[in-house]
Amino acid sequence: MDCKKTVRLINRFLEDDLETEELQDFLDHVKTCEECNEELTIAFLVKEGVARLENGSVFDLQKELDTTINKADHSLRIREGMQWVYYLIIGLIVVAITFLILILVFL
Ligand SMILES: [Zn+2]
Repeated sequence: MDCKKTVRLINRFLEDDLETEELQDFLDHVKTCEECNEELTIAFLVKEGVARLENGSVFDLQKELDTTINKADHSLRIREGMQWVYYLIIGLIVVAITFLILILVFL
């Protein structure tokens, strides 16, 4: 993913609205690209900071951004895990059907 696309996806990332693949590419890029990481930090600070200033709570937004990124990483791993289970089930079904066909052919 290039910087231009990454920057375009920042708002959707903050809304937790990225597809699995987009999220993976986005996180990979943001972790390695200092400029996009900075863009993300600023967007996060603006979005969260305004909300916090309104209700006057004390905050450590850099830490919260890290938490947000970690959560996204975590949900990405869960989604990937689900995908693996999905493929496993499909695989088992294919094996079962093949087995049934073989039994029917040889009986
Ligand atoms: Zn970049």
